[in-house]
Amino acid sequence: PQSKLPALGTTIFTRMSALAQQHNAINLSQGFPDFDGPDYLKQRLAYHVSSGANQYAPMTGVAPLRAAIASKTQRLYDYLPDKDSEITVTAGATEALFAAIAALVRPGDEVICFDPSYDSYGPAIELAGGIIKRLTLQPPAFRVDWAAFSALLSPRTRLVILNTPHNPSATVWQADDYAALWQAIAGQEIYVLSDEVYEHICFAPQGHNSVLAHPALRERAVVVSSFGKTFHMTGWKVGYSVAPAAISAEIRKVHQYLTFAVNTPAQLALADMLDAEPQHYLTLPEFYRARRDHFVRSLASSRFKLLPCEGTYFLLADYSAISDLDDVSFCEWLTTDVGVAAIPLSVFCADAFPHKLIRLCFAKQQSTLDAAAERLCRL
Ligand code: PMP
Ligand code: GLN
Repeated sequence: PQSKLPALGTTIFTRMSALAQQHNAINLSQGFPDFDGPDYLKQRLAYHVSSGANQYAPMTGVAPLRAAIASKTQRLYDYLPDKDSEITVTAGATEALFAAIAALVRPGDEVICFDPSYDSYGPAIELAGGIIKRLTLQPPAFRVDWAAFSALLSPRTRLVILNTPHNPSATVWQADDYAALWQAIAGQEIYVLSDEVYEHICFAPQGHNSVLAHPALRERAVVVSSFGKTFHMTGWKVGYSVAPAAISAEIRKVHQYLTFAVNTPAQLALADMLDAEPQHYLTLPEFYRARRDHFVRSLASSRFKLLPCEGTYFLLADYSAISDLDDVSFCEWLTTDVGVAAIPLSVFCADAFPHKLIRLCFAKQQSTLDAAAERLCRL
């Protein structure tokens, strides 16, 4: 058939993980922990499966999980979304992002993305007939130039997609970014899609700054999160969106025909987990900070130059002292010849991104990080 996405191949995450496996390399490419989530969560899943919670969940998500998400949102961001009309449980954040884009973007609408950007946004916008307007952010700070942002706005601008803490740059949005965003879009019918899947993996002293904590912005925002990151269970693929009722109603029209509903016992187990340990997420910054700091220390004698990491479980490393290869070729060579798989930064950018930067995932056991650092320090 004639492709609807002719420029698209297989995702970099699938390709790099496959290459890592083929060459028996230490896989710091695709973002996932090499350790398991809480035992209690696994026990609750087994319990719900054996007690027969094995049929379709309600389309919007099981009630106890939506209630737990609502109270978590209130505790963290001082905002209580309505659990019945404003929270929708989805098959990972990926489905929430796709459903929100499909629901909001009409053919010919313009969507502003900040590159480097997570790889699922672009294809979803294209399939909806939208036109992507990109603003490429520059290392090491990856800050938005708000004059350049305003120059991208047009009467056709429909949506702005942001992501904080940011994959892959590991930077976070600050209060003045939100003030500038609001100043630029106030008074226009522009929606905001905020990808906050790393909301609990934030090392910035001021903590995670959620769109949900901004009363004006959240009136026209969709905020997306994922339990995969929070509970070290990326394979469970349970996420959610929080949006005002009128926007949620449109998202649900897509969700009900994309997946209809999400895995029932996993949702019930996650609700139990959130109820039993409502403070679990408070332990995550320290948990990942220790891994980040250990990895940074063990790379201190390498020739990589590490960039600051304020959030996510990714660390950026500049390899310009080691090689002249472009980042894609460098990552392939690193996997096949050095035995460490990483992700090149340029794949997150549609326009030229000639920096020598790679992304390393540190959501790994200390022994994995040590083995990888030993190989990287030899270069
Ligand atoms: N957004 C970002 C920025 C991500 O890094 C990821 C996955 N790591 C997702 C969305 C997708 O999350 P999920 O696995 O829950 O679909
Ligand atoms: N989000 C993960 C990453 O950035 C990968 C998810 C996927 O493989 N699609 O590495």
